[in-house]
Amino acid sequence: MASAGGNVVFDTLLTDALLVDGSTVSLGVAAGRIAAIGASLPAGREQLSLGGSLVLPGLVDAHVHLDKSLIGGPWQPHRAGKSATFSVMERVAIEAEILGRAAPVEERAAALIELAIARGTTHMRSHVDIDPVTGLASLHAVLAVRERYEDEASIQIVAFPQRGLTSCPGTFQLMDAAMREGADLVGGLDPSGVDHDVGGQLDAVFELAQRHAAGIDIHLHDPAAEGLAELDEIARRAKSLGMAGRVNVSHAYALGMVPKADAQRTAENLAEAGVSILTNAPGNHPYPSVMQLRAAGVTVIAGNDNIRDAWWPYGDADMLERAMLIAYGSGFLTDQELGVALDLATHAAARALGIDDYGVHVGGQADLVVVASRNVAEAVVARPIRSHVFKAGRLVAGNGKYLGRGTAT
Ligand SMILES: [Zn+2]
Repeated sequence: MASAGGNVVFDTLLTDALLVDGSTVSLGVAAGRIAAIGASLPAGREQLSLGGSLVLPGLVDAHVHLDKSLIGGPWQPHRAGKSATFSVMERVAIEAEILGRAAPVEERAAALIELAIARGTTHMRSHVDIDPVTGLASLHAVLAVRERYEDEASIQIVAFPQRGLTSCPGTFQLMDAAMREGADLVGGLDPSGVDHDVGGQLDAVFELAQRHAAGIDIHLHDPAAEGLAELDEIARRAKSLGMAGRVNVSHAYALGMVPKADAQRTAENLAEAGVSILTNAPGNHPYPSVMQLRAAGVTVIAGNDNIRDAWWPYGDADMLERAMLIAYGSGFLTDQELGVALDLATHAAARALGIDDYGVHVGGQADLVVVASRNVAEAVVARPIRSHVFKAGRLVAGNGKYLGRGTAT
């Protein structure tokens, strides 16, 4: 922020901006933050009319896999497994074969980050595989890419034991090293379904989190009563360690597979412990009731998860589309419900990820996405092209195209 004659001179003045409350205002941006919001503000060094378009806070993709996506490369047809039922380890083997022929992680991760920025995402949480086969190679690649894009997207990294933790010798030590070398959170994966050792995996995950003063984000696909018991145990441990707001469970399918009263008891445990739940609303599997969890006081957040990789051929990193898919799958119809869907990809996700100074308010970081919509509900159903995306006040995408400094190839 600079001043002239005692008055703040905005770096950028955004005029004719529609806010979610329906007011049309100008936004003065200085030193990367929203310095003023008003009907009439003094000129800035640069001025840009938004033509009455809607200004939303930068979108948050709270669950991606930057090391897995094949975005930017040739089309990869989905390869079906041979097992009668879905097998994580069979899919991991198919993935290893496909990624063995793919471009380097740096190239693919960069392409995905640029696509996400073009779609208005300003914050991401990426899981990165840590296992004895991959070692720390993917972590090092994603760390390098994160640094390259640090002015354009904020990225948290979860050390993710894709091949299991206690059942996969050497993984604990690699996870420990990953946390020392720059991963932000400790991941987990189906303590029962993958490791067949709920207590052992959760001991390892919580021990690593304590050792590195880090948060936790666990993939949990384990079904019904089995998964519910694991959620209760995660909540119990989070509560006893005072980790409210620092533990997330991704997917938590179990909550969508049991009678509502059973889900309610676990929802209350999660709320009391401050454990958030992430969903991507898969089309082929039951998932938690967003409204039931929110009513119980659980922070529910959204992410794209796998984007055009060996697991899933869909997606183009668009969190407005993800909000629409969650709304569609949840039977949301009213403006209020569509607003909830967007909240999962904005304010709720920012709270769960611990993103400071988030939102369109004076003092907030100027992470903004602009769409030609008349309100939030219309933005969710229509998913318009992102006309402008700002990261800390700097234009990083325009008219649906990435404009930042990095180059994916
Ligand atoms: Zn995932």
